[in-house]
Amino acid sequence: MESTDRAAALERIDRLEADIRQALQEKDLASDADERSDGHHHPAEAATDAEAREKQLREVFRLRDQLERLERARLNVEAGTYGVCADCGQPIPEGRLRAVPDAERCVACQSKVARRR
Ligand SMILES: [Zn+2]
Repeated sequence: MESTDRAAALERIDRLEADIRQALQEKDLASDADERSDGHHHPAEAATDAEAREKQLREVFRLRDQLERLERARLNVEAGTYGVCADCGQPIPEGRLRAVPDAERCVACQSKVARRR
């Protein structure tokens, strides 16, 4: 990978990481607000609250997963192995890396993983 490509990859990773950290921060703030308003809730609203909280928790986990992938991606850029599919070892197309900077697999391998789940 050319050093300019490497810099561009790091920039995309940084930008996405900043977005995710921002989103996580907003979720933290949102959950604080939920706790403060708990005392005013009618019992009938408790179920939907729990559902909303669970959904929020899943989203937070998803974002943290993505942060971990971005961290690995950054290490891969430094090691010169960024943009190589973790399963088949083929280069991941530039367009996919642009859209998904934390992609660890090519589209074909990723869809196989998705089917396994
Ligand atoms: Zn692959």
